[in-house]
Amino acid sequence: MEIDDINTVAVLGAGNMGHGIAEVAAMAGYDVAMRDIKEEFVQDGYDQIEWSLNKLAENDQLSQEEADAALERVTPLVDMEEACGNADIVIEAVPEKMEIKKDVYSELEAAAPDHAIFATNTSSLSITELADVTERPEQFCGMHFFNPPVRMPLVEVISGAESDEETLELVEELADDFGKSPVRVHKDSPGFIVNRILVPLMNEACWLVEEDEATIAEVDSTTKYGMGLPMGSFELGDQVGNDVSYHVLEYMHEVLGEAYEPCPLLERKVENEELGKKTRKGFYDYEDGDGADIPTDEQSDLVEKRLVATMANEAAKLIGGDVAPPESIDEATQLGAGFPDGPVKLADDFGLENALEALEDAYEATGHERYEPADYLEERASEGGFYDQSGADDGEVEFDAIRVEYPGDMVGHIVLDRPHRMNTISEELLDELEEAIELLEDDDEVRSILLTGEGDRAFSAGADVQSMAAGGADPLGAVELSKNGQSTFGKLESSELPVVAGIDGYCLGGGMELSTCADIRVASNRSEFGQPELDLGLIPGWGGTQRLANVIGEGPAKEIILTAERYEAEEMKRFGFVSDVVDDAELEERAFELAADLAGGPPIATKYTKRAMLAGRHDTDAGLEYEASAFGQLMATDDLMEGITAFMGDEDPDFQGK
Ligand code: NAD
Repeated sequence: MEIDDINTVAVLGAGNMGHGIAEVAAMAGYDVAMRDIKEEFVQDGYDQIEWSLNKLAENDQLSQEEADAALERVTPLVDMEEACGNADIVIEAVPEKMEIKKDVYSELEAAAPDHAIFATNTSSLSITELADVTERPEQFCGMHFFNPPVRMPLVEVISGAESDEETLELVEELADDFGKSPVRVHKDSPGFIVNRILVPLMNEACWLVEEDEATIAEVDSTTKYGMGLPMGSFELGDQVGNDVSYHVLEYMHEVLGEAYEPCPLLERKVENEELGKKTRKGFYDYEDGDGADIPTDEQSDLVEKRLVATMANEAAKLIGGDVAPPESIDEATQLGAGFPDGPVKLADDFGLENALEALEDAYEATGHERYEPADYLEERASEGGFYDQSGADDGEVEFDAIRVEYPGDMVGHIVLDRPHRMNTISEELLDELEEAIELLEDDDEVRSILLTGEGDRAFSAGADVQSMAAGGADPLGAVELSKNGQSTFGKLESSELPVVAGIDGYCLGGGMELSTCADIRVASNRSEFGQPELDLGLIPGWGGTQRLANVIGEGPAKEIILTAERYEAEEMKRFGFVSDVVDDAELEERAFELAADLAGGPPIATKYTKRAMLAGRHDTDAGLEYEASAFGQLMATDDLMEGITAFMGDEDPDFQGK
């Protein structure tokens, strides 16, 4: 089966998750059969979808017609045959009880067509055990959405012991089509990725308090303001629900052993029905108290050490056990839990040697298995980190289509280096650009990126049509090429470093799309801009239909793209696309000055600003949420103190990114 063969999605369960998943599928254009066991339950889910779609329309996140059309596509049903008889894929979101789910799958096996794929949204049960109830374990996998599905971008796609690669790829494509970001979990292992990191983190937070090593205030102050996570550990626990964490932990305890013994403090919370926000009382009091009122200044080194070490140890077990590679762990935790940096990067930055030492000390002192270091942690600690450390600072990476230079003042300079071809963008250049961005981001000595083109004719005259045409008129290849360029340019747009493009000469097509991903553009007066794609019967394919409008507004963006005309630098300045137009002899110097100026800014606040603006682009609430949390986190940085002191003393601040 191919993605185009999927037309009808059946969702089992119209509860919290089921109705949200049905809504997401309907918004993506699929016919959705949503099933629950009683008329009133399924109607309730349907009403919630209607409410949510109207809310999205009210907030201009989709038009009222689109909202109405999406609702039209959802059919609420109670009869299993009717709901699943026609389904190409069934996504199951019934209660988290093995017996209930097993009953559902045996009933489903009889009702669903042979070709249908089954995907379970379980948070903790074994995918393999569920798949074994059916006669199609190879057409079965996990598809784990996060709550609420409409807002949360992550979907963990989990392989059961017998899942086919084809099934997994198809479900990933489907998640992608739903507008979500799938992350593969290669083994059916308790907690998958995100819960495997978060739940032991919360458990360790509890142990620290239970054993009088820290107070709740110290733990949360450290987590939120010291480590820069979006919430305090206990705040997060209350948000998730202490019963949910406890339940996942019990399952880990059963399958993975004593290291996951639930802390008695957590157990007591569950026994006393202090489950968190939903019961108005958990670790914090949401009824009579102030909720999660976390002090900014009660941070503790011990707490940080223990919590980072706990995450490092879980990450090591996931990586060493081939459940997921470092990049997937970081991506999933960023998308699913809003971590600014993923736990693997966090552990690498903290130093794996330090994390290992913290575990060894605690293991010696307590003998508790949760502190026993994973073999793979020891292995990577001796290599210097989880991520490949080679090439990070030996400065020996070889590029062909670009150059990377270090002109000083903490600026990393990427030069598009194909002057004989007007710096047109080939696939090789795209690959190298991606590598260069990562190289500069990993370099502690670099705080901003400057991007220019070699020679005096072009910044970049667009895609290298010649090298790309060599592939022939292959529509699938073209889609891939478009996605590849979109994502490489996206890396620049979402880079934590500020980016300046210095434009001299032609800045056309793909070249202009690339420059659109810089934060600030300056141009020489002889530069020429344009998106000529429509003249070729094409459209801008490297993000141009979206990103240009974000920079200059939809009206001017449409004018530039639809007319396919050339524009002079001064005109682009009037559009707000370039911030400054200078003589060509001064361009490079002016662009460097700007990049150096941004490099002198506070790195953490710069990173957060970029992320908040990007997060809020299509979801203002998410952006505002991010902004508020980043604002809080910045309170605990040395940079803030430095900035304020320098301001008071009328001096230039010397930010350290701490
Ligand atoms: P829920 O209790 O809100 O909804 C479950 C729904 O399934 C109920 O409406 C129930 O009537 C219905 N149901 C029961 N038996 C059924 C059957 N035989 N056929 C169809 N429907 C049936 O639960 P939820 O929070 O939506 O969780 C559902 C699943 O999603 C669970 O496996 C859970 O672990 C997982 N999950 C939950 C979250 C979360 O934050 N709530 C996040 C990710 C995954």
